[in-house]
Amino acid sequence: MTQWETVIGLETHAQLNTRSKIFSAAATAFGAEPNSQACAVDIALPGVLPVLNRGAVERAIRFGLAVGGNIASRSVFARKNYFYPDLPKGYQISQYEAPVISGGSLAVAVGEREITVRLTRAHLEEDAGKSLHEDFHGKSGIDLNRAGTPLLEIVTEPDLRSAQEAVAYAKALHALVRWIDICDGNMQEGSFRCDANVSVRPAGSAALGTRCEIKNLNSFRFMERAIEFEARRQIEVLEDGGRIVQETRLYDAQKDETRPMRSKEEAHDYRYFPDPDLLPLAISEEWIERVRGEMPELPGAMRERFTRQYSAAPAEAAALTATRETARYFEAAVGAVGDPAAARVCANWIAGELAARLNRENLDIGAAPVSPEQLAGLVRRIADGTISGKIAKEVFDALWNGEAADADACIEAKGLRQISDSGAIGRFVDEVIAADPESVAEFRAGRQKALNALVGRVMKVSGGKANPQQVAELLRARLAG
Ligand code: ADP
Ligand code: MG
Repeated sequence: MTQWETVIGLETHAQLNTRSKIFSAAATAFGAEPNSQACAVDIALPGVLPVLNRGAVERAIRFGLAVGGNIASRSVFARKNYFYPDLPKGYQISQYEAPVISGGSLAVAVGEREITVRLTRAHLEEDAGKSLHEDFHGKSGIDLNRAGTPLLEIVTEPDLRSAQEAVAYAKALHALVRWIDICDGNMQEGSFRCDANVSVRPAGSAALGTRCEIKNLNSFRFMERAIEFEARRQIEVLEDGGRIVQETRLYDAQKDETRPMRSKEEAHDYRYFPDPDLLPLAISEEWIERVRGEMPELPGAMRERFTRQYSAAPAEAAALTATRETARYFEAAVGAVGDPAAARVCANWIAGELAARLNRENLDIGAAPVSPEQLAGLVRRIADGTISGKIAKEVFDALWNGEAADADACIEAKGLRQISDSGAIGRFVDEVIAADPESVAEFRAGRQKALNALVGRVMKVSGGKANPQQVAELLRARLAG
């Protein structure tokens, strides 16, 4: 039986987060009254002329720098001609032969492995309007608010070998465009849209199989399911002796299947030609250098630094650099603790308790009710033994709920200070020894597990406040006698 290999290349449209459109001054804000943000240029009235938005170009440069691509000193806008009701000009302004960015790559973690995905190109273009079908019986409405929104189309080489790899790449790209602040990444609003080109071939074969392009992948989960479905479909066709027809297919999430949308058009169908209304885009070395100077530290570099500077484990460093806000939070907390040795404890709390809580309440870390300084106050009291890790959870909850201004105030108000006074702990220990002769006998018979049970009981009697190490020591001493 033939072993099949799946081959995937992704095309991603990232809406650039400029306030105005790529060729006009109309606003790009999402969700406005239909057609209230479409000016004469966007609706293609005759005689109007496009004026290129510098901010869109600057964002493309940021991307080029972030992926190590080549930033063209001269690139060209072309007209891609096609008819669609939401495209009143009859053509989309895009870049074809001379894109602004070419080459570059993205390192992507896939489980424990890391793959390098080569980028073919990234080019600037304008978004089209939207056809609305829901609200009109038997008719479609046209909303041109989106027409002219700047897009960066980012195209990979066919380097991905499974749905899992494709999703990992898309997630890494999604994190990167937000990190360098060129796109808000909102997938529900269509700010970040992926199309997947999928083919299969016998394992070991060098030639690529015929591909289908799947549209409408508006979540990572759908992307994974669509690619898996499509690869399986193609394998079935080939194993039945059929042939794959190159076409564009639509993913239907409800039915969890892809189905044909249109036959694949070829580049020559679009009659591309340079747009006579726009000069070639010129990007000077000075401009690139100025943008380079304003670039934030990139996630890859930061991961490496966290590993070095705070001896973070790889997975930990990855979690801390999931977003720029997470990294900022972590560094602010470590700075506020003032002791680099406490960095691991900060990391644990941020990747653990804080992340879980944010996730549960569907909050971004920027909106966390516990500030990095408050977390630092908590970590300081764990480090100096004032409270145990368990009590710290209680303090964290209180801070989260706004019950106290900082960890110290909470510890005082609730009397949570760890008990390290051996007299007091001794009394708890005696009480438990008297109440649990069974565990005592087991321990004396040599079963270490019984000690854990006894420590647990003492902790309970002390309301979680006894210093667990001292409890264990005192128990051993008492039971040895
Ligand atoms: P188009 O002009 O249709 O956009 P491109 O040649 O630009 O086609 O390729 C688009 C995407 O499809 C790229 O990401 C590329 O890597 C990918 N691709 C091309 N051929 C294949 C193939 N045989 N199997 C899977 N992906 C492919
Ligand atoms: Mg394409």
